[in-house]
Amino acid sequence: MIDLPDLSKINEKYRMFSEIASEISTDAEFAFSAKDNLTAVGFQARAGSAILEGYRPLFDAACIEKMRSAGGFLIGKTNMDEFGFGSFSMNSAYGIPRNPYDTERSCGGSSGGAACAAAVIDGHVALGVSTGGSIACPASFCGVYGMAPTYGRVSRHGLIDYGNSMDKVGILSQDAKDLGKYLPIISGDDRRDPASCNHPPLQKRFRKLRSVAIVKGEASAGVDAAIRSAEEELRSMSVDVETVSMDSLRYALPAYYVLASAEGSTNIARYCGLRYGRQDGDLSLKFDDYFTKMRSEYLGEETKRRVILGTFTRMMGFRDKYYAKALGVRNAIISEYKSIFERFDAVLTPTMPFISPRFDEISGMSALETYRADVLSVPPNLSGLPHISMPCGYSEGMPVGMMLVADHWNDDILLSAAEEWQKRFDARRPEVAI
Ligand code: GLN
Repeated sequence: MIDLPDLSKINEKYRMFSEIASEISTDAEFAFSAKDNLTAVGFQARAGSAILEGYRPLFDAACIEKMRSAGGFLIGKTNMDEFGFGSFSMNSAYGIPRNPYDTERSCGGSSGGAACAAAVIDGHVALGVSTGGSIACPASFCGVYGMAPTYGRVSRHGLIDYGNSMDKVGILSQDAKDLGKYLPIISGDDRRDPASCNHPPLQKRFRKLRSVAIVKGEASAGVDAAIRSAEEELRSMSVDVETVSMDSLRYALPAYYVLASAEGSTNIARYCGLRYGRQDGDLSLKFDDYFTKMRSEYLGEETKRRVILGTFTRMMGFRDKYYAKALGVRNAIISEYKSIFERFDAVLTPTMPFISPRFDEISGMSALETYRADVLSVPPNLSGLPHISMPCGYSEGMPVGMMLVADHWNDDILLSAAEEWQKRFDARRPEVAI
């Protein structure tokens, strides 16, 4: 039996859903939501984009298929930055999710609606997607646990792709135990996703976290203080903690934005107003004019920026200068992580360098400033590494998250760390008044 609040009412206030199930079946075993870039029968899949208005996929994404067969009921699709492009969920054509701790602030992005639903609805499990931090960032801003598994662990069949060499499906919840419960359900080999792999499979008995390398980065004073007290708490849990430096990390952000935009721009090419979603343009126009008009009208500003940036970095003459170089940086980052994992189980950083900003602050940020927010969440995504964001403190009344990154296929260590952490850390729930 599931017990849910009035979803339309909470959605009026928080805007976490882009679509809510027309009928709720309360005799399901559990309720879950899915980010709107995952296909589900009975719902539109619009990935936050106006160009996909009306697109009703005929099949379930692999992860949704698995959650449904485990007894889950899909209550809605969650709001997100268009195609995953953003860190504050403000680039959505379907409303901006509002942070449950302060509705004048962002939920983070791009899985902002997922984190908001996980924070507001008790016992809720939200499926999110991460390419460059889109699970960790909103989990941190909304004070919930968010897990992005090893690249390949969860099939992406049915995902509206952003950057195929990085995209992964993961889980957000108030309860750390849910991550360990549902990740095994959605994991596994799937021939429909060429990158899917489950070798070695997720351990049945999660191994304990014994050692952590802290990488210090630039963060606000409030975030720093929360991380310092988390460091002490980890020590009291008999975890060996040492500070290390990772020089390659400062190149992660430019490398990520080159690679992610290159991949993103090729994926967006299929949305030309003919095959999916909107097809209501003037069909007497020549093809080029038709799709230029449709794309100009229905793609958002940030998506256009990524298409231009990504196309540029893939162009003859620039490819070696940007794209190939970014691939080299990615290898250097992976090697540096690997050398740390020879001595430590996990790397710890703040998830985000600051607490969730207010919408008026975000509106005043340049595109580059918004990209900089991802400085800590991008490196594990570039490297295909499993990572988890856990609430670890509060600053100005807003949640602060810390991020643990483990070696490939060591997802279980993160899951057990989160369960242990939850026993120690008393998370404050937001006051939800509707
Ligand atoms: N902020 C990152 C970006 O805009 C995160 C994307 C993601 O993980 N979907 O690319």
